Amino acid sequence: MERYYARGEDIEGHEDLGVDGVLADSITSEVEARRAVARMLQDGEWDTSEDYVVLHATILSGESPDEAVEAGYVRLVLDQDEPDCRRDQEHEWIAGGPRSHGGSVWYRDRCGRCGTVRVTDAWAQDPETGDEGLRAVYYERDDARDDADE
Ligand SMILES: [Zn+2]
Repeated sequence: MERYYARGEDIEGHEDLGVDGVLADSITSEVEARRAVARMLQDGEWDTSEDYVVLHATILSGESPDEAVEAGYVRLVLDQDEPDCRRDQEHEWIAGGPRSHGGSVWYRDRCGRCGTVRVTDAWAQDPETGDEGLRAVYYERDDARDDADE
């Protein structure tokens, strides 16, 4: 019977998966495997207070771990946590963008209350692999106003 396996340092509790990283018996398709692995990635303790985080895992399938071949790849982007606004207020986002530069597109929404800028980057980079084209959200505090977004 073909089974699915997962490998990747970003998987929460990946040590507990054992050497073979075998996924549950109930997982019988690549789609299910991707979903399960994405959930495992998401369940980790990730620090998204300062920036977005990109997580990775490889899915393999085969009759046995020795014969397993790569069947897919899961990459998950966790957006940065939204920082607090002033005095328990809700941010009041004023839409900015889209802006483009080269092949990249991003949106910079500024909070009318606290000045925080919410950047939605539609061409973010994976710091590990260098791949571009991810969608990620992160925030900039408006300490020094930069002219670029006026
Ligand atoms: Zn705000």
